[in-house]
Amino acid sequence: MSRQGLIDIKNLTGEELTEFLTGLGKERFRARQIIRWIYARGVTSFAGMTDLSKSLREELERRAFISDWEPEVTEVSTDGTRKYLFRLGDGQTVETVRIPMEGERSTLCISTQVGCAMQCAFCLTGTFGLLRNLSPAEIVNQVCATAREGPVNNIVMMGMGEPLHNLDNVVKALQILYHDDGFGYGPRKVTLSTSGLIPEMLELGRRIRVNLAVSLNATTDAVRNELMPVNRRYPLKDLMAACREFPLATRQRITFEYILIRDVNDTPADAKRLVRLLHGIKAKVNLIPYNEHEGSAFRAPRPESIEAFQTYLLSRDIVAIRRASKGQDISAACGQLKGKLERQ
Ligand code: SAH
Ligand code: SF4
Repeated sequence: MSRQGLIDIKNLTGEELTEFLTGLGKERFRARQIIRWIYARGVTSFAGMTDLSKSLREELERRAFISDWEPEVTEVSTDGTRKYLFRLGDGQTVETVRIPMEGERSTLCISTQVGCAMQCAFCLTGTFGLLRNLSPAEIVNQVCATAREGPVNNIVMMGMGEPLHNLDNVVKALQILYHDDGFGYGPRKVTLSTSGLIPEMLELGRRIRVNLAVSLNATTDAVRNELMPVNRRYPLKDLMAACREFPLATRQRITFEYILIRDVNDTPADAKRLVRLLHGIKAKVNLIPYNEHEGSAFRAPRPESIEAFQTYLLSRDIVAIRRASKGQDISAACGQLKGKLERQ
């Protein structure tokens, strides 16, 4: 099917869709009807939109289409974690991971780019380099395709890619996910994780509400420079200052992700420095034991270092959660996507 020159409706925010329709001489409220059909009811063709006139449906078909995804592969972990591989129009692939929570609930970990430009030393995605950005539709379709199988309660942008390196499309995708007539996710249900692109972080805060997670992963510039090259441009002092500036709702906190890597950043001195760095920030810390993979020589921490690190943070009144790494047997852990299936 040739879709050249046609607009993918899933690339449009509510506002853009309204503009598109009024440009065709249609009523504004048609946008809300269409959004309800696509996201709330999962319809994938204009023909199924029975409360639109036949002439409007035909006009839409001439000018637009509704992209829709099916996973090419679904792997299910022994703990219920599901990893989906989607093949894109140009042959690229992205992965999405559904992590089960209590009851029927689940958190969806979505990708925002194919690959990533940030080159973090510990990250498998980083080794691919950046292949391209995902469009708003490609970000949203990860939710559409997986929500069909069961409720997606929370969304984390912690899959492949640096979301703030694709800021415009990510903000549009958030606007689509938040739309009241569509999925209606509240900003508290969605978390965006960044390696620390400061100007984009502050721009994000100006443009839209979303939970912010910052991948900290080190407590000195020397170590962070080695682990995360982005730190050479935006060192810790500036990053923490930007976090202090980031607008937060009442009771909202910034999540700091901290991968514990054996003998690299998992010492008592690190725990102490971390407490100092977080001073004056409404923070919570996610401790993530490093997931070993063949792309790097780093090792997972010893259980006693994890324990000591967490205990120290808690003793200094810092909320510190140990994020259980789920889906290990299918390499579905966030930040470890793409590699395995591509090599097979
Ligand atoms: N680019 C964004 C979001 C995607 S990475 C970011 O860096 O925040 C999501 C998370 O996975 C980051 O916190 C990253 O530090 C983590 N991660 C990457 N590789 C990992 C590994 N091998 N083990 C554990 N966590 C990893
Ligand atoms: Fe990119 Fe995040 Fe991986 Fe760093 S950790 S390479 S920013 S995906």
